[in-house]
Amino acid sequence: MKRDLNRLTNQRFDLLVIGGGITGACIARDAAMRGLSVALIEKSDFAHATSAHNSRLIHGGLRYLRNFELRLVRESLRERRIWQRIAPAYVHPLPFLVPLYGGGWKARATLAAGLTLYDLLAFDRSGPDDPAQRLPRHRWLDAKSALAIEPALDGRGFVGAFEYYDAQMDSPERLALACIMDADAHGAVVANYVQAEGLLFREDRAEGARVADAFSDAEFEVRAAVTVIAAGPWADLFLRLALGKPVSHRLVRSKGIHLVVPPMTQTHALTLATKGGHFFVLPWRGHSLLGTTDAPFTGSPNHVGVAEEDIAAFLAFINAHLPSADLQRGDVKHFYAGLRPLVDDGRRSTYNASRRAELIDHGKDDGVAALYSAIGGKWTTSRRLAEQVVDKIDAKLGKSFGRCRTATSGLPNVPAADQSDVLRAVRAEMALTMEDLVMRRTGVGLLGKPGAHVLEGMSRTMGAELGWSEERREQEIAAMEHNFHTRESA
Ligand SMILES: Cc1cc2nc3c(=O)[nH]c(=O)nc-3n(C[C@H](O)[C@H](O)[C@H](O)COP(=O)(O)OP(=O)(O)OC[C@H]3O[C@@H](n4cnc5c(N)ncnc54)[C@H](O)[C@@H]3O)c2cc1C
Repeated sequence: MKRDLNRLTNQRFDLLVIGGGITGACIARDAAMRGLSVALIEKSDFAHATSAHNSRLIHGGLRYLRNFELRLVRESLRERRIWQRIAPAYVHPLPFLVPLYGGGWKARATLAAGLTLYDLLAFDRSGPDDPAQRLPRHRWLDAKSALAIEPALDGRGFVGAFEYYDAQMDSPERLALACIMDADAHGAVVANYVQAEGLLFREDRAEGARVADAFSDAEFEVRAAVTVIAAGPWADLFLRLALGKPVSHRLVRSKGIHLVVPPMTQTHALTLATKGGHFFVLPWRGHSLLGTTDAPFTGSPNHVGVAEEDIAAFLAFINAHLPSADLQRGDVKHFYAGLRPLVDDGRRSTYNASRRAELIDHGKDDGVAALYSAIGGKWTTSRRLAEQVVDKIDAKLGKSFGRCRTATSGLPNVPAADQSDVLRAVRAEMALTMEDLVMRRTGVGLLGKPGAHVLEGMSRTMGAELGWSEERREQEIAAMEHNFHTRESA
C-alpha cells in the first residue's frame, strides 16, 4: 500500500470518503469491492481516534436489551458472527462472568431472562464450522464454581455468576488497517495525513473536497460524484465549517477512558453492574483492561485525553465495586480516552443514548445533494453501516455496481510488525510517524512507554528509510510521547 497524492488529484472518483477510522475503512472497502472508484483521506493516521480507543469488543450489546433495542442487539450479534468469519485472526471468543452479590431471586431471574434472550437473538452464532470461534450459551455458576474460575470475585454476599460469551479484538488498530489495505488492494486510493479543509460545490451539490497534505502543507482538490463524511466525533464540526451555517444534526460527544493494569482475572472478563451502569475488567495481552467511563465532553475532539482526576475517580469507583482489586495509581501501566459520537436526541443521558449508527442524507436535511454523513454507533456494526451507505450511493449514481461482498470475503491476515520489522510498516503499511509505528503498526506502546533503546532503534531504522534529520528523529519521539502523559482535565 503506497501513499500517492498525485493519484488523488488526477482522477474524478465515484466516491470520496473523509475519515479513516473503521467507518470510513469499511465504506471504502465495500465500495471498492463493488467496483466503484474510491478515494479515502484521513487527517491523521488510520484508526488513530475512536477506532483505537475503545473496549476492543465485538459484541451484541447485552445491556441494550434493557432499553428494548432488540433490533440493534440482533444486528450487532449478526455482525459479531460476520467479523468472526471474515477476520478470525483478529477476533476471538471471550468468556464473561456477571457476578451477583445478594440481590435475591429477582435480580437473578431478570439477568437469566436477558441472557436467554441474548442467546436466542444469536441463534446463528458461530458454531461447529470453526471450533476456535465457538460461542457457548450462557450458564449459571454457583459461588464455589465461579470462584474456582475467578477468585477475584470473592466478596460479601457473593452468590454466584452467570457466564456468557462475546468476542474480543486483540488489535482494532490492525483490524481497521486490514480493511484499509483490502480497500487499497481493490483499487481504492487511500492516504493518511491528508485533511479535508472544505467541500467543493457545484450549485447545490457537493463535488468532493479541498484538502491539505500535513507534511508539505500543499493544498489540492479531490473530486468525486458523491462525498461521505465518516469523521466520527469531528463530523458535525467539519460540516458546519464546510457549509458555513448550522447543520441539521448535532453530535454530543461522550468521553470514555480505559486503564491497563496488571492481570486481575485468570481467563474470564468480568461485567460488573453498578447503580448507574456497568464496567468491564477485560483480559488483554496478559493484563487487565478496565473500561469504561461515560461523560459528556464539550472540548475539541483534537484535545481529548486522560486527566489524573479521571484516573483517580475511575480507580476509586472500581475499588468500591470490586474491593479485592485494591488498585493504586502505580498499578496503571497505560491509559487512553475515546469519544463516542452520539447523535443528539436531546432526551437521554450519554450512557443511555442509543448506539445505533446513523446515515444522514444532507440533500434532504441541509439542501446539499451528493453528500452524506455516516456516524458509527459501534465498531461491531461498522461493516453493516458501510453496506447501507454504499447501497444508497449505488442507487444515487444510477449505475449497476456489484453486490456487497464484505460479509463473506475474508480480510487479509497481516500480523503486526515487531520491533525488528519496521521497514514493512513503513514501506507497505503507510507508517509515517513514530506514533503510527509505536501505537498502531507494532503496538509496542500499548502497554506503556517502551524503553529508550527500543525507541532509539525503531526511530533510527524509520528515519533512515524516510530521510529524517537527527532533529526530526528526536521531534518524532517527543511527539509520540503525548500518548503516555495525562493532561489537564477539560
Ligand atoms: C470508550 C469507548 C468504548 C467503545 N467500545 C466499543 C466496543 O467495545 N465495541 C464496539 O463495537 N464499539 C465500541 N465503541 C464505539 C466504536 O469505537 C466507534 O463506533 C467507532 O470506532 C467509530 O469509528 P469511526 O470511524 O466512525 O470514528 P473514528 O475512529 O473517530 O474515525 C474518524 C476519523 O475521521 C478523521 N477525520 C476527522 N476530520 C477529518 C477531516 N477533516 N479530514 C480527514 N479526516 C478527518 C479523524 O482523524 C478520525 O480518524 C466504543 C467507543 C468508545 C469511545
